[in-house]
Amino acid sequence: MSAERPEGLDPADWDDFRALAHRALDDLVDRLEHRRDEPVWRPLPHEVRASFDGPLPREGIGVEAAYAEVMTRVAPYTMGNDHARFWGWYMGAGTPVGNLADLVASVLNPNLGGGDHAPVLVEQQVVRWCAEAVGYPTDASGLLVSGASEANLVGLAVARSAVLGPGVRTDGLAGTGRVAVYASAEVHSCHRKSCEVLGLGEAALRLVPVRDDFTLDVDALAEAVAADRAAGIRPLAVVATAGTINTGAVDDLDAVADLCAREGLWMHVDGAIGGFLGLSGRADLVRGLARADSVALDLHKWMQAPIDVGLVLVRDEAAHRATFSVVPAYLRHATRGLAAGDVWFNEYGIDLTRGFRALRVWMALLAHGADAHGAVMDRTTALAHRLADRVDDHPLLERMAPVGCDIVCFRYRPDGLDDEQLDAVNRELVLLVQESGVAIVTETALSGRLAVRVAIGNHRTRAEDVDLFLEALERLGPQAVTTATSGAR
Ligand SMILES: *Cc1c(COP(=O)(O)O)cnc(C)c1O
Repeated sequence: MSAERPEGLDPADWDDFRALAHRALDDLVDRLEHRRDEPVWRPLPHEVRASFDGPLPREGIGVEAAYAEVMTRVAPYTMGNDHARFWGWYMGAGTPVGNLADLVASVLNPNLGGGDHAPVLVEQQVVRWCAEAVGYPTDASGLLVSGASEANLVGLAVARSAVLGPGVRTDGLAGTGRVAVYASAEVHSCHRKSCEVLGLGEAALRLVPVRDDFTLDVDALAEAVAADRAAGIRPLAVVATAGTINTGAVDDLDAVADLCAREGLWMHVDGAIGGFLGLSGRADLVRGLARADSVALDLHKWMQAPIDVGLVLVRDEAAHRATFSVVPAYLRHATRGLAAGDVWFNEYGIDLTRGFRALRVWMALLAHGADAHGAVMDRTTALAHRLADRVDDHPLLERMAPVGCDIVCFRYRPDGLDDEQLDAVNRELVLLVQESGVAIVTETALSGRLAVRVAIGNHRTRAEDVDLFLEALERLGPQAVTTATSGAR
């Protein structure tokens, strides 16, 4: 061991560290302030990619040099979802308040798995605030998780044990017979993973057709449930979606709730995208969410929290706890001391050690107020409609779906090309837009045809950003046709 190496991992000189930390903070605030003037995304140069191949460093280079590596090799080549013109898949942009909260949370470094400390109260309050924001009972149980994938998994796990009984925990699915979970054909792929992980199997997920507006066809749902019952299959739960990933369509939650009440089925709402519409001018779309047995929400999407944080709400606290609680001697609760506290979050989900995700949500709600988040939703929705109107007015652009939430799907459609060629042209167009650095948009399939998908979901986007994107389409559209139809590349 070298003589200079200090004990532990704290800096040998706090003043040096403080100076570096101040500089890092300045660099990061500069980035936030000027990010919109840079390309959204840049392709990784070969040398940068290759620079990540080195072996495990046995001797450190020091924190100054390590920080320099981050700023030269990592920071310029990120995904770009902090940029005003990132509209890919569906993500929020993060916020400066959320960024600051993350720094604080990292330094405080509490474990939210359990115990009697203020960070647990912060998470409990975030759960209550979010329930109130979405119009759900505020005495519901809830848990912050990595995102809506995990929130949906937890919701379905509770449904499984609540419907099939506690025997599932001791004996697994042996002897329970076949079960089915229903969702629309537009449901997010994470539900397939949930069904697989929960041992139900992918085949248990019944994909019910959608109507022309891409919402669940509730009549077809009723028929699917009846057909399964007739075949001896036990209907377990219905997943309604508030804001589908492809088009932002919001299922008729009240109609689904009526059917679930009639049939005695667990109602779960995947509100990853539109769950928080209750804060916006379109709260009417999600009134029925209050009737769900469980709800999955994402805070790193329309709510703009830095990645990653989602939330699951479960109406019946006892059912939620009964699904996950395991309390060995070393985790036993006390009535005094640090091991007191009435809610230990590790009993409500998969993780035991849990980070302080709650702070980034709590501090943002405290700093901005919930209505500011509703205003972001209204603004990005208006921007999506602005884009949709321009698409509708453009002779070479064709809209592929109604605007749901703040998602616009369209394609570039010059004359004389068949559907196959149009798919190739639009795939190329998405790549050209990405490589141009002007914007990030992605592709999807709607009714079998490729669509350019623009999911605004970004509090930084302004009208001028939408216009810049439209100008890029004018420029890059003809180039996409040339490339895609000549077979080059
Ligand atoms: C994004 C999304 C998910 C998955 O959420 P993650 O936070 O990415 O895990 C689930 N459902 C819908 C509708 C989504 O949009």
